Amino acid sequence: MAKSSVSRFRSDMLSKARDVLTETVRSTPLTSAPDAALMFPTLTSAQIARIASHGVTRPVTRGEVLIEGGQTDVPFFVVKAGEIEVIRPSGLGNLLIAVLRPAQFTGDISMILGRPAQMRLSVSESGQLVELTRDQMHDLIQTDAEISDVLMRALIHRRIALVTQGIGDALLIGSGRSAATLRIKEFLTRNAHPFKYLDLDRDADVQDLLDRFHVDRADVPVLICRGAAVLKRPSNQEIAERLGFNERIDRNHLRDVVIVGAGPAGLAAAVYAASEGLDALVIEASSPGGQAGSSSRIENYLGFPTGISGQELAGRAYAQAQKFGATVMIAKGAVQLTCEERPYGVRLDDGATIPARTVIIATGARYRKPSLANLEQFEGAGVYYSATFMEAQLCTGDEIVVVGGANSAGQAAVFLARTVRRVHLLVRSSNLSASMSRYLVRRIEEIPTIQIRTRTEIVALDGDGHLERVRWRDGTGGVTSHGIRHVFLMTGAEANTGWLSGCVALDEKGFVKTGQDLTEQDLAAVQWSLGRSPYLLETSRPGVFAVGDVRCGNIKRVASAVGEGSIAISFVHRVLAE
Ligand SMILES: Cc1cc2nc3c(=O)[nH]c(=O)nc-3n(C[C@H](O)[C@H](O)[C@H](O)COP(=O)(O)OP(=O)(O)OC[C@H]3O[C@@H](n4cnc5c(N)ncnc54)[C@H](O)[C@@H]3O)c2cc1C
Repeated sequence: MAKSSVSRFRSDMLSKARDVLTETVRSTPLTSAPDAALMFPTLTSAQIARIASHGVTRPVTRGEVLIEGGQTDVPFFVVKAGEIEVIRPSGLGNLLIAVLRPAQFTGDISMILGRPAQMRLSVSESGQLVELTRDQMHDLIQTDAEISDVLMRALIHRRIALVTQGIGDALLIGSGRSAATLRIKEFLTRNAHPFKYLDLDRDADVQDLLDRFHVDRADVPVLICRGAAVLKRPSNQEIAERLGFNERIDRNHLRDVVIVGAGPAGLAAAVYAASEGLDALVIEASSPGGQAGSSSRIENYLGFPTGISGQELAGRAYAQAQKFGATVMIAKGAVQLTCEERPYGVRLDDGATIPARTVIIATGARYRKPSLANLEQFEGAGVYYSATFMEAQLCTGDEIVVVGGANSAGQAAVFLARTVRRVHLLVRSSNLSASMSRYLVRRIEEIPTIQIRTRTEIVALDGDGHLERVRWRDGTGGVTSHGIRHVFLMTGAEANTGWLSGCVALDEKGFVKTGQDLTEQDLAAVQWSLGRSPYLLETSRPGVFAVGDVRCGNIKRVASAVGEGSIAISFVHRVLAE
């Protein structure tokens, strides 16, 4: 490390004695960490020459700022000679993240995602750099498979390190007992946005920090972005806006395909569309990953013999879609499909309408909610719809209830049984085998801390602020009350088709009918006028497709969602050629 860097790093550490981010101060920058080679590989001279042919090579002098934190249109640099320092700037204190030396390169996944830079990069030793604009860097990774592999691998490892160490431009102050805090944590995590979390009830110094930003305890959760902007109890939309998730997206441009929903089906469609040269936009109401993103471990998806968490699968697919040039709009819901004339339009919850030559409906399904009077009051405060590491942390050592007889409930029970004291698995039917895969039933039966309670359902939830007691009725009709503070509801799903406003034919349960499931009456109702029948996965509107869980007859699995998303693109090509 250059002398200036050492002294800056030390003084930075010292000045943080009372800084709330003290915990995140590292004794070494990431470039000196044991796994540095994964994050900061060195390029061969042949690779550097190939990269240089896409951009310019120029001299730089010490002190030059190459990228400012928050900057959009972030360029990409390879160090030929000299040294670059990567610093997380913020009102909360600067932190040296990395020192890049010859044959190493800059970049973070934000660059691929088209989001603002999180770090400041400056030249700490004069030298020579290769510089590519963001567009040139995109061209490079789309055309040079070898370099793309090296860059993408490094960027993903860097992001994982930032996320796991909470080094980023966002600080969340919340409470483990608040549903809004859990929502924000989930939103940031599922969007792979690194953030530092401080808990009002557990962390010292939080009050100092609240005072420093003139925030009242009642305003929590609070998100402090780039050490300056303070968002009090923000919605996901506000967070996406402030962190620049959708900053570079042109909403007026007519796309070849607009994909609504970024679950496995929508992301697969985006990867195939973009990799095959189509101009694709994905609209996601919440975060990429859909239901799969809320699964702790998917064990039956091809190619992952030891399983993969839904979040990791979604994160990789999201980066892959962006790598090929698909655009993903986050925290924007589609509220209407305008289908009377072509091009079609997808109207968003903020009033904008995105024009589309073809549309893929990939809005999946959401958990059915049991009709319990005060259910909403406990959502996120004792009642959960997903079972990931985050929820597991909230109930470690406690007794919990998992409701449901399908695979998602079984997985949740197995996953949570590792850290909780006891799992009561409540199933309405008289046994599990009708609705759950055999491997899961067997695994559940082998875990002594899981108690299967068949013909049992919850009848009431009680508590003040947080869930404290659960009452259930068993097969005998008797109702008992239990001091249980955590209930995981995994009770089947209904289609997210409310926004389609009668544009396409649905089945009696609200799922979208496609291909051969469409009857003559379905087609007559929308005046199908083409000389051909609807393609596989095509709805009753020409050029509007439905894939994944939202589609009637779909097998509700990650693999089938991914398969359908990718197959749909071949039919999109045919429609565009018509
Ligand atoms: C906890 C859990 C565990 C599971 N485990 C497994 C497993 O191990 N193996 C397996 O094969 N399957 C598993 N499944 C099932 C699997 O996750 C689903 O079949 C799969 O996610 C379906 O993908 P999809 O893209 O069709 O829909 P979804 O995953 O439901 O994604 C739909 C997306 O559309 C978005 N959306 C909805 N409405 C709108 C709108 N109006 N505008 C914009 N966006 C919208 C949603 O926010 C969501 O992100 C699990 C499901 C759950 C819930």
